[in-house]
Amino acid sequence: MTNPASHERLVLHCDNVWIDPPGRFEPKSVEVVGGCIEAVRDRMAAPAAGIARPETDLGDACLMPGLINTHVHLEFSASPDPLRDFNGETIPERLSRAVRNARSMLLSGVTTLRDCGSSLDLLAHLRRRRDLPDLPRLLLSGPPITVPGGHLAFFGGEAPSPDDVAAVVSRLVSAGARSLKLMGSGGVMTPDTHPETASFPQETFCQVADAARANDVASVAHVLAAESVRRAAVAGFDSLEHCAFFFRASNGRLERRYDPEIAGIVAESGVSIMANLSTATRSHGTLARQGMQGNLDSQHALDQHDVMLENFRRLVELGIPIVCGTDAGVRDTPFEDTWVELELMARSGLSNIEVIRSASLNAARVLKLQGRVGRIAAGHSADFVVLKDSPLADVSSYREPLHVYRRGHLVTSPSSAGKE
Ligand SMILES: [Zn+2]
Repeated sequence: MTNPASHERLVLHCDNVWIDPPGRFEPKSVEVVGGCIEAVRDRMAAPAAGIARPETDLGDACLMPGLINTHVHLEFSASPDPLRDFNGETIPERLSRAVRNARSMLLSGVTTLRDCGSSLDLLAHLRRRRDLPDLPRLLLSGPPITVPGGHLAFFGGEAPSPDDVAAVVSRLVSAGARSLKLMGSGGVMTPDTHPETASFPQETFCQVADAARANDVASVAHVLAAESVRRAAVAGFDSLEHCAFFFRASNGRLERRYDPEIAGIVAESGVSIMANLSTATRSHGTLARQGMQGNLDSQHALDQHDVMLENFRRLVELGIPIVCGTDAGVRDTPFEDTWVELELMARSGLSNIEVIRSASLNAARVLKLQGRVGRIAAGHSADFVVLKDSPLADVSSYREPLHVYRRGHLVTSPSSAGKE
């Protein structure tokens, strides 16, 4: 597939085009040339000469910016055991799985995604395909910067010293990474990596956030431990992932213990949070259906899910900007389920307009893509999701998009998305 020809034109007429700011629907005609929005005019205004065909009237549907998911792992399988699948596949198998995963996200309405941790192979494989209409726009982090043996160290981003961190950063940037990911704490997915402890000193958090600014790429910190949340906020990362406030209880279990002082530091810093409330919700559903009798681990998991939602509510009350991400690809977290995250955020205290912004304006900002995606306005990529009902009234309308457009191309089914 090639880029859309510069002369390809399209006009979409719609009673309800999402204009943000100010955050409301207006009747508009959206003119697209060569994959980009050229103009947004009053509905049914006579198109300028030569821009008349083809035209589509979307009637009283809602034309929204395509969704932005800021946190996925394309190389993972979303099965109950993604690491087993990852280790059992050849590199070509894994790369074709990643492309299939990206396509299924596009069909679900996600037109921009960030991969938040992958192999260098994926970076090399996709760097030339990151802005083609058959896939979402791709922002790739490549291997996360992590301590030796740390979370997702097998991707190759281990950096024990500041010099090593600098070397990994320059390797990533020259390989085409447009986002730098720091593993600021251990992770649940990688055994023995201590999710309740900050992995690096404050200086390393600052070094990575500064390096991202110097290279004009996004910065993102995986922070499960409360202290890691604090260090990442102080360093000024663009977004903080998970913010679990994990604490190791005397019975050995990880517990979420909200820290109001650290939450206040986050609010003051102005950084955004990606809370991935929906991760592994399918397995939670299974646990709930099976009943909890006699299974303390399962009960603990469900209890902690409730604590997570309550903590999210408190972070929202502080006015911290929220961005949409799902951690798709990890255990029981499918790629087409971005709508689940939107619903959970709305059910946990985020207003519907802020839910919409978490996957459009706010997400574009933390990915350093503002002015290019996330708005229906001249100069932006013609990436749209068409919904039957207004998500401003009920965000569950994202569950089943009527249509998805990527760079002005209509994406209707896996086969047509692959053939275009
Ligand atoms: Zn992740």
